[in-house]
Amino acid sequence: NKQVILKEYITGLPKESDLLVTTNNTISLKVGRGSPKAVLVKNLYLSCDPYMGYSMKHPDCDLHNPYTPGSPITGFGVAKVLDSSHPDFKKGDLIWGITGWEQYSLLTATEPLFKINHTDVPLSYYTGILGMPGLTAYAGFYEICSPKKGEYVLVSAASGAVGQLVGQFAKLMGCYVVGSAGSKEKVDLLKNKLGFDDAFNYKEELDFNATLKRYFPEGIDIYFENVGGKMLDAVLLNMRVHGRIAVCGMISQYHVDQLEAVHYLTSIIYKRVHIEGFVVSDYFPLYCKFMDTLLPCIREGKIKYVEDIVEGLESGPAALIGLYSGQNVGKQVVVVDHD
Ligand code: NDP
Repeated sequence: NKQVILKEYITGLPKESDLLVTTNNTISLKVGRGSPKAVLVKNLYLSCDPYMGYSMKHPDCDLHNPYTPGSPITGFGVAKVLDSSHPDFKKGDLIWGITGWEQYSLLTATEPLFKINHTDVPLSYYTGILGMPGLTAYAGFYEICSPKKGEYVLVSAASGAVGQLVGQFAKLMGCYVVGSAGSKEKVDLLKNKLGFDDAFNYKEELDFNATLKRYFPEGIDIYFENVGGKMLDAVLLNMRVHGRIAVCGMISQYHVDQLEAVHYLTSIIYKRVHIEGFVVSDYFPLYCKFMDTLLPCIREGKIKYVEDIVEGLESGPAALIGLYSGQNVGKQVVVVDHD
């Protein structure tokens, strides 16, 4: 059983060398008697998600789901059931949910596991558009931003797993949407493939306040926050009255020694801005409704999804660490096996 192991708890930015790909031959390919609700799976696709670097830190860090040194890291993935004592899953089923970064995992279903019922779309989509990041974009945009036709929307980390969907949801709603991303290739993707009205490379901008005034001369109604730091500060200066900010993530702040200060909080008062943080797991009950909305959009080509797929567990550590330098173009997926 090939596995990706965390060597030690980390401090600072995660590095590829913090993870080790190794082989452990102790797994049995049968669920043992006396293991109720156990599901033995063969992992197919693994999702690289920004929170995973956080989970590599000491368990005292303020996040759920810390990893254990010497054990395989975990994350969202798509897998095939090989054996099961769980009443909801049987041999041959395809599932998505939290699994191990390894070829085979014995899951005890303490974390949510979803059965995959629609296989006319790529299975890897259940790590992204039809999985956790998709639901994040859906809940964050529709439930928290309360969007209205014609509103001005900014999305940061816009070409990523979550951002590319938020922008497309905003377009479907009839909003004007601008994305920020970290390379010319990503900016072109946003404008030419994903239908954003405009996009800019934040790495080439010296003064975000001036940048936002250029793209939003009338101000921003909705900001979908993925990055934090200086961008959030500049956004606060450029919000419109009764604007909404969905705080989904702050990737620029996850691995810094000192959090960047946000200076313009007083804007929240006189602009009457609504700011709300959220965690996707609170919205898992919306999953069926989300699927009913998303699947037809994918089948009819109304929503596109860009994936960045690498082959083999050996490629996993570099792919995961690449998230923190923007190496991924679209949703970062690791293929363990195709079926
Ligand atoms: P992405 O697919 O967008 O990958 C991460 C991207 O973040 C990189 O490609 C890079 O894009 C950008 N990035 C990395 N470092 C920085 C930095 N220092 N400053 C600015 N941008 C940076 O990730 P996801 O779409 O999966 O996640 C987006 C955000 O949503 C993250 O903050 C994540 O933690 C959060 N999230 C929150 C959830 C919740 O429940 N609240 C659930 C899922 C995700 P670029 O080249 O454009 O810089």
